[in-house]
Amino acid sequence: MKIETIFQNNEKWVAEKLAINTNYFNELAQGQRPEFLYIGCSDSRVTAEDLMGVQPGDVFVHRNVANLVNNVDLNVMSVVNYAIRHLKVNHVVVCGHYNCGGVKAAMQPVDMGILNPWLRNIRDVYRLHKDELNAIEDINARYNRLVELNVEEQCVNLIKTAAVQEAFRDRGLIVHGWVFDINTGKLIDLKINFQEKLEAIKEIYNLSDSPMF
Ligand SMILES: [Zn+2]
Repeated sequence: MKIETIFQNNEKWVAEKLAINTNYFNELAQGQRPEFLYIGCSDSRVTAEDLMGVQPGDVFVHRNVANLVNNVDLNVMSVVNYAIRHLKVNHVVVCGHYNCGGVKAAMQPVDMGILNPWLRNIRDVYRLHKDELNAIEDINARYNRLVELNVEEQCVNLIKTAAVQEAFRDRGLIVHGWVFDINTGKLIDLKINFQEKLEAIKEIYNLSDSPMF
């Protein structure tokens, strides 16, 4: 695609928005109050707004390779804290997708240079669920299952954070785990049981009672 085409597309988009509402951009400039935080993969085929059918202002978005919520990644942790504590989103979504290159790369036992520390997070998910995954003979089915388990573990990583635990206690924030099926276009809800996941980790990761500071 030519760069000129992108700017022409933009002009067309502005005209379309103004044709529906002459104040569209004035209203957009007032500020944002998104209800959702979406954490998805950087893959070019998985765009949050398109697959959810939402508009600018509806979703706060963070994307990285294989939709990871890594505890020491300042980028994702800043997004999570800002979205929950300041924008007050009530839903946090981790959305993975089948045919994810990041997850596939993590399944190859080879040195991938700078990608090693990042993929290590997914390899750790594999280790946690090794018995279940190794019992799946079909390699594609195993790969798809790892995509789902990776989403589930990233939801657990979110539930380990103080911001999520406090917002759950104070206003019932919910964490959702979804997979985008790139073969059909459909979103699949993995139906993460927030309460059950929190109970399972609470003994070690409870940060919302008796604050230290
Ligand atoms: Zn991906």
